[in-house]
Amino acid sequence: MRRAVVLGGSVAGLLAARVLSDHARSVVIIEPDPLDTAPGPAGGPVPARPGVPQGVHLHVLLSQGRAQLERWFPGLTAELLAGGASLAPPVQYLDGRRKVAVAGSELLGATRPYLESVLRRRVLAIGHVTVVRGRADGLRFGPVGTGRQRGVTGAHYRPDGASARDCLGADLVVDATGRSTRLGVWLEQGGWPAPALHRMRIDLGYATGVFAGGDELPGVTALTAMARPAPAGLPQPDTAALGRVEGDRWMMVLAGYAHRRPGADVADFRARCRAVDAAPVRQVADRELLGPLRLHRIPDSRRRDFLGAGRFPAGLVAAGDAVAAFNPVYGQGMTSAALHASCLAAHLRSGAPLDRPARGYFERIRVVVDAAWGLSTLGDLAQPHVDGPYPRGYRAAAWYGDLVNRLATTDPEVGRRFLQVVTMERHPRLLTRPGTLAQVARAAWSARTARG
Ligand SMILES: Cc1cc2nc3c(=O)[nH]c(=O)nc-3n(C[C@H](O)[C@H](O)[C@H](O)COP(=O)(O)OP(=O)(O)OC[C@H]3O[C@@H](n4cnc5c(N)ncnc54)[C@H](O)[C@@H]3O)c2cc1C
Repeated sequence: MRRAVVLGGSVAGLLAARVLSDHARSVVIIEPDPLDTAPGPAGGPVPARPGVPQGVHLHVLLSQGRAQLERWFPGLTAELLAGGASLAPPVQYLDGRRKVAVAGSELLGATRPYLESVLRRRVLAIGHVTVVRGRADGLRFGPVGTGRQRGVTGAHYRPDGASARDCLGADLVVDATGRSTRLGVWLEQGGWPAPALHRMRIDLGYATGVFAGGDELPGVTALTAMARPAPAGLPQPDTAALGRVEGDRWMMVLAGYAHRRPGADVADFRARCRAVDAAPVRQVADRELLGPLRLHRIPDSRRRDFLGAGRFPAGLVAAGDAVAAFNPVYGQGMTSAALHASCLAAHLRSGAPLDRPARGYFERIRVVVDAAWGLSTLGDLAQPHVDGPYPRGYRAAAWYGDLVNRLATTDPEVGRRFLQVVTMERHPRLLTRPGTLAQVARAAWSARTARG
């Protein structure tokens, strides 16, 4: 391949660029934000950038995501740890009970801008990967291959500060512009159908505070405190999540749905954190707050159906949130983006012709998206305000999921398998394998006997 163009230089775009650097003579990333790799003022924290507003919120990297990043950037974990990131298995609370500790499945705690800056430095150190500062605003279509097929032959963009449009020709364009991608519009402008957008309304609010770290909670990197939803009409419990990040700081998120979305009032934030049934959350809430609370609203989880589009042009793929963006409480986004990059590598290595639609790639990522979507929406549909769409077999799946989640508080083997699934190390079908069903039955029997 002569040139690949990646639209968007965030996690999905950087990972796609790394993969493409093995296959293309030149890889160009088009990104509106300045992608300097310097640390923050006076060597302080790396600041978030406008194109990634969620960057001020806690971003925990799941174990599968870390394994994928190590695959593409060997030694990345050690580099992040040397810069102050932390690594440990998660501590999880459910309804005030701490889940039994299980080894493995370590999560990485670092701020999102720091993690991204290290990734970016690695990608931009590859000689034939470059960045053009500008905003993509369309695709160029034309004959591809022998000329009998039409497909994408480049991307239009507006260079930073310029009023005129420019175009970069490419053998492959990767859309990694995030959940609000305009890809559907660009496709329609070229006479192609837009992939259907499926949404689940979740109406989630995030408030994140950064707190001074201390000696409390030794060995804790990431902690979640969740409670099963109360019946409709009753006050819903908050979810809290904690991450130890570089600079000896804690990031704490308070997540609430619908009319329980948290605001920016510090006293209210602390009061709600203290009401969460997990002692570590209360401990951190009492520490010094190092800046204002930051808010984010996530109206929906969404996914785009590229395979269902019927006709799709050659020379184009999408990755990361542009394909699917989930409820962030489950921390699946960056790991999904990393898996998409590995799917792209497998697709390119398979020798699939570039002058044909990349169906093989979209089939590969569908497995990743289905798994992450199934898991996160199963949790979301348990919220009384979420009204579907319900998948086939929802009731049975919800009942079994709830049982496994509860048994993971006491049974180490159920806990281990559950954790492997929620950290995306294993496919959710692990939980319905005969060995797991037998273990769940044994654990349920023991729990019942213990209750008398
Ligand atoms: C509040 C919140 C918390 C989250 N927490 C976690 C977590 O704990 N763990 C986790 O793994 N994930 C988390 N996520 C998800 C995570 O942020 C994303 O999945 C991840 O950033 C990958 O996204 P992306 O690279 O596809 O898109 P984004 O990160 O959204 O980046 C899109 C990029 O495209 C650029 N861009 C936009 N338009 C154009 C254009 N026209 N031309 C060129 N470039 C363009 C933007 O400037 C940006 O750089 C969270 C998300 C939110 C909202």
